[in-house]
Amino acid sequence: DRIISAHLMMEDEVAELSLRPRYLAEYIGQSQVKENLKIYIEAAKMRKEALDHVLLYGPPGLGKTTLSNIIANELGVNIRTTSGPAIERPGDLAAILTNLQEGDVLFIDEIHRLHRTVEEVLYPAMEDFALDIIIGKGPSARSVRLDLPSFTLVGATTRAGLLSAPLRDRFGVVSRLEYYTVDELSYIVSRAADILGASIVGEAADEIGKRSRGTPRIANRLLKRVRDYAQVKGDGIITADMAQKALRLIQVDDLGLDEIDHKMLRAIMTHFRGGPVGVDTIAATIGEESQTIEDVYEPYLLQIGFLQRTPRGRTVTAAAYRHLGLPVPSADG
Ligand code: ADP
Repeated sequence: DRIISAHLMMEDEVAELSLRPRYLAEYIGQSQVKENLKIYIEAAKMRKEALDHVLLYGPPGLGKTTLSNIIANELGVNIRTTSGPAIERPGDLAAILTNLQEGDVLFIDEIHRLHRTVEEVLYPAMEDFALDIIIGKGPSARSVRLDLPSFTLVGATTRAGLLSAPLRDRFGVVSRLEYYTVDELSYIVSRAADILGASIVGEAADEIGKRSRGTPRIANRLLKRVRDYAQVKGDGIITADMAQKALRLIQVDDLGLDEIDHKMLRAIMTHFRGGPVGVDTIAATIGEESQTIEDVYEPYLLQIGFLQRTPRGRTVTAAAYRHLGLPVPSADG
Protein backbone atom coordinates (compact mmCIF):
# COMPACT_ATOMS: atom_id res chain seq x y z
CA ASP A 1 0.00 0.00 0.00
CA ARG A 2 1.21 3.48 -0.80
CA ILE A 3 1.74 5.78 2.14
CA ILE A 4 0.36 8.60 0.03
CA SER A 5 -2.80 6.73 -0.96
CA ALA A 6 -5.90 8.79 -0.19
CA HIS A 7 -7.93 5.64 0.46
CA LEU A 8 -8.69 4.48 3.97
CA MET A 9 -6.14 1.97 5.26
CA MET A 10 -6.20 -0.27 8.32
CA GLU A 11 -3.67 1.93 10.11
CA ASP A 12 -5.89 4.99 9.75
CA GLU A 13 -8.99 3.64 11.37
CA VAL A 14 -8.33 4.03 15.08
CA ALA A 15 -6.67 7.42 14.71
CA GLU A 16 -9.38 8.76 12.44
CA LEU A 17 -11.97 8.23 15.12
CA SER A 18 -10.16 10.58 17.48
CA LEU A 19 -8.93 13.04 14.87
CA ARG A 20 -12.26 13.53 13.18
CA PRO A 21 -13.71 17.00 13.84
CA ARG A 22 -17.18 16.74 15.36
CA TYR A 23 -18.69 20.15 14.68
CA LEU A 24 -18.62 22.59 11.79
CA ALA A 25 -16.48 25.03 13.76
CA GLU A 26 -13.71 22.42 14.01
CA TYR A 27 -13.92 21.47 10.35
CA ILE A 28 -11.10 23.29 8.59
CA GLY A 29 -11.37 24.70 5.06
CA GLN A 30 -14.17 24.08 2.54
CA SER A 31 -15.60 27.45 3.58
CA GLN A 32 -18.19 27.64 0.81
CA VAL A 33 -19.61 24.22 1.61
CA LYS A 34 -19.58 24.95 5.34
CA GLU A 35 -21.29 28.29 5.00
CA ASN A 36 -24.12 26.85 2.93
CA LEU A 37 -24.62 23.87 5.20
CA LYS A 38 -24.68 26.09 8.26
CA ILE A 39 -27.63 28.03 6.86
CA TYR A 40 -29.55 24.97 5.71
CA ILE A 41 -29.01 23.21 9.05
CA GLU A 42 -30.12 26.28 10.98
CA ALA A 43 -33.24 26.64 8.82
CA ALA A 44 -34.15 22.96 9.16
CA LYS A 45 -33.80 23.19 12.93
CA MET A 46 -35.99 26.30 13.07
CA ARG A 47 -38.68 24.59 11.05
CA LYS A 48 -38.21 21.35 12.99
CA GLU A 49 -37.96 19.51 9.69
CA ALA A 50 -35.44 17.06 8.30
CA LEU A 51 -32.61 18.71 6.36
CA ASP A 52 -32.79 18.38 2.56
CA HIS A 53 -30.86 15.43 1.13
CA VAL A 54 -27.17 16.25 0.67
CA LEU A 55 -24.78 14.90 -1.95
CA LEU A 56 -21.06 15.32 -1.19
CA TYR A 57 -18.60 14.58 -3.93
CA GLY A 58 -14.86 14.83 -4.35
CA PRO A 59 -11.68 12.73 -4.15
CA PRO A 60 -11.19 10.27 -1.26
CA GLY A 61 -9.85 11.49 2.09
CA LEU A 62 -11.16 15.05 1.82
CA GLY A 63 -13.69 14.76 4.62
CA LYS A 64 -17.00 13.49 3.22
CA THR A 65 -17.59 10.95 5.99
CA THR A 66 -16.47 13.49 8.57
CA LEU A 67 -18.88 16.08 7.23
CA SER A 68 -21.81 13.67 7.26
CA ASN A 69 -21.18 12.97 10.96
CA ILE A 70 -20.92 16.70 11.61
CA ILE A 71 -24.27 17.27 9.89
CA ALA A 72 -25.91 14.77 12.25
CA ASN A 73 -24.18 16.29 15.30
CA GLU A 74 -25.19 19.81 14.33
CA LEU A 75 -28.79 18.68 13.78
CA GLY A 76 -28.72 16.76 17.05
CA VAL A 77 -29.89 13.51 15.44
CA ASN A 78 -28.58 9.98 15.03
CA ILE A 79 -26.60 8.85 12.02
CA ARG A 80 -26.80 5.46 10.37
CA THR A 81 -23.79 4.70 8.15
CA THR A 82 -23.63 2.28 5.25
CA SER A 83 -22.23 2.11 1.73
CA GLY A 84 -23.51 1.44 -1.78
CA PRO A 85 -21.91 -1.98 -2.23
CA ALA A 86 -22.92 -3.10 1.29
CA ILE A 87 -26.63 -2.91 0.49
CA GLU A 88 -27.16 -6.03 -1.57
CA ARG A 89 -30.92 -6.32 -1.90
CA PRO A 90 -33.89 -3.91 -1.86
CA GLY A 91 -35.00 -5.59 1.37
CA ASP A 92 -31.74 -4.59 3.08
CA LEU A 93 -32.36 -0.95 2.33
CA ALA A 94 -36.02 -1.25 3.36
CA ALA A 95 -34.89 -2.62 6.74
CA ILE A 96 -32.49 0.30 7.24
CA LEU A 97 -35.13 2.87 6.27
CA THR A 98 -37.85 1.49 8.53
CA ASN A 99 -35.46 1.55 11.49
CA LEU A 100 -34.68 5.25 11.16
CA GLN A 101 -36.09 7.76 13.61
CA GLU A 102 -37.68 11.07 12.72
CA GLY A 103 -35.03 13.49 11.40
CA ASP A 104 -32.15 10.98 11.37
CA VAL A 105 -29.27 11.11 8.92
CA LEU A 106 -28.66 8.12 6.68
CA PHE A 107 -25.14 8.21 5.26
CA ILE A 108 -24.47 6.13 2.15
CA ASP A 109 -20.80 6.16 1.14
CA GLU A 110 -19.90 5.23 -2.46
CA ILE A 111 -23.51 5.85 -3.37
CA HIS A 112 -22.69 5.50 -7.09
CA ARG A 113 -22.22 1.78 -6.45
CA LEU A 114 -25.82 1.08 -5.36
CA HIS A 115 -27.48 -1.73 -7.26
CA ARG A 116 -30.13 -0.52 -9.66
CA THR A 117 -32.92 -2.41 -7.87
CA VAL A 118 -31.86 -0.92 -4.53
CA GLU A 119 -31.68 2.55 -6.02
CA GLU A 120 -35.31 2.30 -7.08
CA VAL A 121 -36.37 1.81 -3.46
CA LEU A 122 -34.57 5.03 -2.64
CA TYR A 123 -36.56 7.24 -5.05
CA PRO A 124 -39.95 7.24 -3.22
CA ALA A 125 -38.09 7.16 0.11
CA MET A 126 -36.23 10.37 -0.73
CA GLU A 127 -39.13 12.10 -2.40
CA ASP A 128 -42.16 11.17 -0.30
CA PHE A 129 -40.64 9.38 2.71
CA ALA A 130 -42.48 6.29 1.56
CA LEU A 131 -41.70 2.69 0.82
CA ASP A 132 -43.55 0.87 -1.95
CA ILE A 133 -43.75 -2.84 -1.37
CA ILE A 134 -45.24 -5.47 -3.62
CA ILE A 135 -47.42 -8.05 -1.94
CA GLY A 136 -48.26 -11.30 -3.68
CA LYS A 137 -47.23 -12.58 -7.08
CA GLY A 138 -48.62 -12.63 -10.62
CA PRO A 139 -52.01 -11.08 -11.40
CA SER A 140 -52.99 -10.71 -7.74
CA ALA A 141 -49.84 -8.76 -6.86
CA ARG A 142 -50.48 -5.30 -5.51
CA SER A 143 -48.35 -2.46 -4.30
CA VAL A 144 -48.70 -1.13 -0.75
CA ARG A 145 -47.25 2.16 0.37
CA LEU A 146 -45.68 2.40 3.83
CA ASP A 147 -44.87 5.71 5.47
CA LEU A 148 -41.31 6.28 6.61
CA PRO A 149 -40.03 8.78 9.14
CA SER A 150 -38.66 11.89 7.44
CA PHE A 151 -34.89 11.65 7.24
CA THR A 152 -31.88 13.22 5.54
CA LEU A 153 -29.93 11.15 3.08
CA VAL A 154 -26.28 12.15 2.85
CA GLY A 155 -24.66 10.48 -0.13
CA ALA A 156 -20.93 10.51 -0.83
CA THR A 157 -19.18 9.73 -4.08
CA THR A 158 -15.79 10.35 -5.63
CA ARG A 159 -17.38 11.47 -8.88
CA ALA A 160 -20.85 13.01 -9.22
CA GLY A 161 -20.85 12.01 -12.89
CA LEU A 162 -21.07 8.36 -11.89
CA LEU A 163 -24.53 8.88 -10.37
CA SER A 164 -27.65 8.15 -12.36
CA ALA A 165 -29.59 11.29 -13.27
CA PRO A 166 -32.78 10.35 -11.36
CA LEU A 167 -30.77 9.81 -8.19
CA ARG A 168 -28.72 12.98 -8.57
CA ASP A 169 -31.86 15.05 -9.16
CA ARG A 170 -33.31 14.00 -5.82
CA PHE A 171 -30.62 15.75 -3.79
CA GLY A 172 -31.54 19.28 -2.70
CA VAL A 173 -27.97 20.18 -1.75
CA VAL A 174 -25.04 19.18 -3.94
CA SER A 175 -21.60 20.12 -2.65
CA ARG A 176 -18.19 19.51 -4.10
CA LEU A 177 -15.23 19.20 -1.74
CA GLU A 178 -11.97 20.73 -2.95
CA TYR A 179 -8.35 19.79 -2.30
CA TYR A 180 -7.03 21.66 0.76
CA THR A 181 -4.40 24.39 0.66
CA VAL A 182 -1.02 23.88 2.33
CA ASP A 183 -1.99 26.34 5.07
CA GLU A 184 -5.17 24.43 5.83
CA LEU A 185 -3.31 21.12 5.89
CA SER A 186 -0.65 22.58 8.13
CA TYR A 187 -3.40 23.64 10.52
CA ILE A 188 -4.98 20.19 10.37
CA VAL A 189 -1.58 18.63 11.18
CA SER A 190 -1.06 20.95 14.17
CA ARG A 191 -4.52 20.19 15.47
CA ALA A 192 -3.99 16.43 15.04
CA ALA A 193 -0.60 16.62 16.80
CA ASP A 194 -2.32 18.37 19.68
CA ILE A 195 -4.93 15.63 19.96
CA LEU A 196 -2.25 12.93 19.75
CA GLY A 197 -0.21 14.70 22.44
CA ALA A 198 2.79 15.28 20.16
CA SER A 199 4.75 18.53 20.06
CA ILE A 200 5.40 19.91 16.62
CA VAL A 201 6.93 23.17 15.42
CA GLY A 202 5.13 25.29 12.82
CA GLU A 203 7.63 24.64 10.02
CA ALA A 204 7.32 20.90 10.49
CA ALA A 205 3.54 21.12 10.18
CA ASP A 206 4.03 23.15 6.98
CA GLU A 207 6.47 20.55 5.68
CA ILE A 208 3.93 17.77 6.20
CA GLY A 209 1.14 19.94 4.79
CA LYS A 210 3.13 20.52 1.58
CA ARG A 211 3.54 16.81 1.01
CA SER A 212 -0.02 15.71 1.75
CA ARG A 213 -1.46 16.01 -1.75
CA GLY A 214 -4.20 18.36 -0.63
CA THR A 215 -5.69 15.55 1.46
CA PRO A 216 -6.28 15.56 5.25
CA ARG A 217 -6.22 11.76 5.46
CA ILE A 218 -2.69 11.72 4.02
CA ALA A 219 -1.64 14.60 6.30
CA ASN A 220 -2.72 12.67 9.39
CA ARG A 221 -0.97 9.53 8.19
CA LEU A 222 2.31 11.31 7.43
CA LEU A 223 2.15 13.00 10.83
CA LYS A 224 2.00 9.64 12.55
CA ARG A 225 5.05 8.36 10.66
CA VAL A 226 7.00 11.52 11.40
CA ARG A 227 6.03 11.35 15.06
CA ASP A 228 7.41 7.80 15.30
CA TYR A 229 10.64 8.92 13.68
CA ALA A 230 11.03 11.90 16.01
CA GLN A 231 10.42 9.66 19.00
CA VAL A 232 13.03 7.08 18.01
CA LYS A 233 15.68 9.30 16.40
CA GLY A 234 15.22 12.46 18.45
CA ASP A 235 13.67 13.67 21.67
CA GLY A 236 10.08 13.38 20.45
CA ILE A 237 9.72 16.99 19.36
CA ILE A 238 8.81 17.18 15.68
CA THR A 239 11.10 19.74 14.07
CA ALA A 240 11.26 20.63 10.38
CA ASP A 241 14.53 18.70 10.13
CA MET A 242 12.97 15.60 11.70
CA ALA A 243 9.98 15.86 9.36
CA GLN A 244 12.21 16.13 6.28
CA LYS A 245 14.36 13.17 7.29
CA ALA A 246 11.36 10.99 8.14
CA LEU A 247 9.62 11.80 4.89
CA ARG A 248 12.77 11.16 2.88
CA LEU A 249 13.02 7.77 4.54
CA ILE A 250 9.51 6.79 3.45
CA GLN A 251 10.24 8.21 -0.01
CA VAL A 252 7.71 11.00 -0.14
CA ASP A 253 9.26 13.93 -1.99
CA ASP A 254 8.73 17.62 -1.29
CA LEU A 255 5.54 17.73 -3.37
CA GLY A 256 4.15 14.54 -1.89
CA LEU A 257 5.06 12.32 -4.84
CA ASP A 258 6.30 8.80 -4.23
CA GLU A 259 8.27 6.34 -6.33
CA ILE A 260 5.20 5.22 -8.25
CA ASP A 261 4.44 8.78 -9.37
CA HIS A 262 8.09 9.13 -10.40
CA LYS A 263 7.99 5.83 -12.26
CA MET A 264 4.90 6.82 -14.20
CA LEU A 265 6.19 10.28 -15.14
CA ARG A 266 9.58 8.87 -16.15
CA ALA A 267 7.94 6.17 -18.25
CA ILE A 268 6.01 8.76 -20.25
CA MET A 269 9.14 10.90 -20.60
CA THR A 270 11.54 8.18 -21.67
CA HIS A 271 9.33 5.80 -23.66
CA PHE A 272 6.90 8.26 -25.23
CA ARG A 273 8.87 11.51 -25.38
CA GLY A 274 6.52 13.10 -22.90
CA GLY A 275 3.32 12.01 -24.70
CA PRO A 276 0.61 12.21 -25.74
CA VAL A 277 0.13 8.59 -24.82
CA GLY A 278 -3.05 6.67 -23.98
CA VAL A 279 -3.79 5.54 -20.43
CA ASP A 280 -3.91 1.90 -21.53
CA THR A 281 -0.42 2.15 -22.95
CA ILE A 282 0.91 3.79 -19.78
CA ALA A 283 -0.78 1.07 -17.76
CA ALA A 284 0.88 -1.69 -19.78
CA THR A 285 4.27 0.01 -19.55
CA ILE A 286 4.34 0.32 -15.77
CA GLY A 287 2.33 -2.85 -15.08
CA GLU A 288 -0.76 -1.26 -13.56
CA GLU A 289 -4.46 -1.24 -14.37
CA SER A 290 -5.80 1.70 -16.39
CA GLN A 291 -8.58 2.19 -13.87
CA THR A 292 -6.09 2.48 -11.01
CA ILE A 293 -4.11 5.05 -12.94
CA GLU A 294 -7.20 7.12 -13.63
CA ASP A 295 -8.64 6.91 -10.12
CA VAL A 296 -5.55 6.85 -7.95
CA TYR A 297 -2.32 7.97 -9.61
CA GLU A 298 -3.44 10.58 -12.03
CA PRO A 299 -5.77 13.04 -10.21
CA TYR A 300 -3.08 14.66 -8.08
CA LEU A 301 -0.59 14.85 -10.98
CA LEU A 302 -3.27 16.60 -13.03
CA GLN A 303 -4.11 18.86 -10.10
CA ILE A 304 -0.52 20.12 -9.68
CA GLY A 305 -0.12 20.53 -13.44
CA PHE A 306 2.45 17.76 -14.01
CA LEU A 307 0.17 15.86 -16.33
CA GLN A 308 -2.29 17.06 -18.92
CA ARG A 309 -5.24 15.29 -20.43
CA THR A 310 -5.54 15.73 -24.20
CA PRO A 311 -7.84 14.03 -26.71
CA ARG A 312 -4.89 11.87 -27.80
CA GLY A 313 -3.80 10.87 -24.31
CA ARG A 314 -1.67 12.17 -21.45
CA THR A 315 1.29 14.51 -21.77
CA VAL A 316 3.78 15.49 -19.09
CA THR A 317 4.52 19.18 -18.64
CA ALA A 318 7.76 21.14 -18.40
CA ALA A 319 7.15 21.51 -14.66
CA ALA A 320 7.28 17.72 -14.29
CA TYR A 321 10.62 17.52 -16.14
CA ARG A 322 12.05 20.24 -13.89
CA HIS A 323 10.78 18.50 -10.75
CA LEU A 324 12.52 15.26 -11.75
CA GLY A 325 15.68 17.20 -12.65
CA LEU A 326 15.51 16.26 -16.33
CA PRO A 327 16.05 18.58 -19.29
CA VAL A 328 12.83 19.92 -20.78
CA PRO A 329 12.65 18.73 -24.42
CA SER A 330 12.43 21.50 -26.98
CA ALA A 331 9.17 21.91 -28.90
CA ASP A 332 10.66 20.66 -32.20
CA GLY A 333 11.79 17.45 -30.51
P1 ADP B 1 -13.69 10.81 2.94
O1 ADP B 1 -14.96 10.31 3.54
O2 ADP B 1 -13.90 11.97 2.02
O3 ADP B 1 -12.86 9.73 2.31
P2 ADP B 1 -12.96 11.32 5.71
O4 ADP B 1 -14.13 12.10 6.15
O5 ADP B 1 -12.91 9.89 6.16
O6 ADP B 1 -12.78 11.41 4.13
O7 ADP B 1 -11.65 12.11 6.20
C1 ADP B 1 -10.41 11.49 6.46
C2 ADP B 1 -9.78 12.05 7.71
O8 ADP B 1 -9.28 13.35 7.44
C3 ADP B 1 -10.74 12.26 8.88
O9 ADP B 1 -10.72 11.20 9.80
C4 ADP B 1 -10.25 13.49 9.58
O10 ADP B 1 -9.35 13.17 10.61
C5 ADP B 1 -9.51 14.24 8.52
N1 ADP B 1 -10.27 15.40 8.01
C6 ADP B 1 -11.04 15.41 6.90
N2 ADP B 1 -11.54 16.65 6.68
C7 ADP B 1 -11.07 17.43 7.67
C8 ADP B 1 -11.23 18.82 7.97
N3 ADP B 1 -11.94 19.63 7.19
N4 ADP B 1 -10.61 19.29 9.08
C9 ADP B 1 -9.86 18.46 9.84
N5 ADP B 1 -9.67 17.16 9.60
C10 ADP B 1 -10.25 16.63 8.53
